[in-house]
Amino acid sequence: MTTSPHLETLAVHAGQRPDPTTGAIMTPIYQTSTYVQEAPERHKGYEYSRTDNPTRKALQELIAALEGGRFGLAFASGMAAIDTIMRLLSPGDHVLVGNDVYGGTFRLFDKVLARYGLEFTYVDVTSLSAVEAAIQPDTKLIWLETPTNPLLSLADIEAISRLAPDGVQVVVDNTFASPYLQQPLKLGADIVMHSSTKYLGGHSDVVGGALVVNDEEVYQQLKFLQNAVGAVPGPQDCWLILRGIKTLHLRMERHSENAQKIARFLSDCPAFSTVIYPGLDSHPQYELARRQMPRGFGGMISAIMRGGDSAAREFVTRTRLFALAESLGGVESLIEHPYSMTHASTAGSPLACDPGLVRLSVGVEHIDDLIADLQQALMGL
Ligand SMILES: *Cc1c(COP(=O)(O)O)cnc(C)c1O
Repeated sequence: MTTSPHLETLAVHAGQRPDPTTGAIMTPIYQTSTYVQEAPERHKGYEYSRTDNPTRKALQELIAALEGGRFGLAFASGMAAIDTIMRLLSPGDHVLVGNDVYGGTFRLFDKVLARYGLEFTYVDVTSLSAVEAAIQPDTKLIWLETPTNPLLSLADIEAISRLAPDGVQVVVDNTFASPYLQQPLKLGADIVMHSSTKYLGGHSDVVGGALVVNDEEVYQQLKFLQNAVGAVPGPQDCWLILRGIKTLHLRMERHSENAQKIARFLSDCPAFSTVIYPGLDSHPQYELARRQMPRGFGGMISAIMRGGDSAAREFVTRTRLFALAESLGGVESLIEHPYSMTHASTAGSPLACDPGLVRLSVGVEHIDDLIADLQQALMGL
């Protein structure tokens, strides 16, 4: 190939080549913990599977290629990937965090890592001046999620990367957008993080995490930590994510198309006071969304019900196609109540969410069936 391949082609091929001994077109699941050596220190690049495994290596190269980055690392979960980034820091270091991050990220920072002497400031990352004002001499990381969970507000990755001083790494949790919709490294971010449990895997059958970086020194530090700490995924899980990613572009297109239509449907529905979707021109950052996510706005929608907590609980119990479950990013549609489910750990904190909020992870089913399901569940609410 003379031109560099497009993301759609990379999703199918990057990091993978037919098995040289058998011709198997799919990367084998190398279900092995160790590797036979010809002589001490003479081996084929693999010694022990915490350090390296061929199935994991294929996945790491694939995710790096999709993000347009040089180096990828895979982890046992998104949280394990986040924890590994944080181990780049030392007691006394300061981290700026978006004030609407994933509940588990907040829990890790607030309940675990704060005890190890890391300092966290939660800031409204939709405001560049708020980010700039919150940077301290000890700030080492700026932690962004965009779109955020569950309020789907955006951070301007390019602008924040530009204002971050030297020595301050900008991390983007790119789970909600996926590299098909948004490539943070190309916008100036230093580290991209994924819960590959969600859109990368895409089929609600595996838990995993990933990091992608361009800087070789940071990569070496993270790779050292991956092995030293050991939160690695097994080969079977890597294989499931490799397989899922082959259709990432097709799925993201349909997720975005369906979600756009459902967001419009909910906006016309009197049961909701607010519908939040980056692809609606009522979204306060619609212009940024169009610039930063030019191919589509993803499958996640949040909406606030006029009837508050009780209406929200009733609605999410009544849907049939939209299954009541935590998580997101699978081919099947899900619905949940963040206040009592995914974001229960933020109760009483500045990150607590509205009790009337419902969050939809729109799947790839037929749009008419999805809308009919929402219609029947809304009857009388
Ligand atoms: C799910 C999720 C995580 C955590 O990932 P796990 O794979 O569940 O450990 C982190 N960030 C976001 C945005 C998520 O949705």
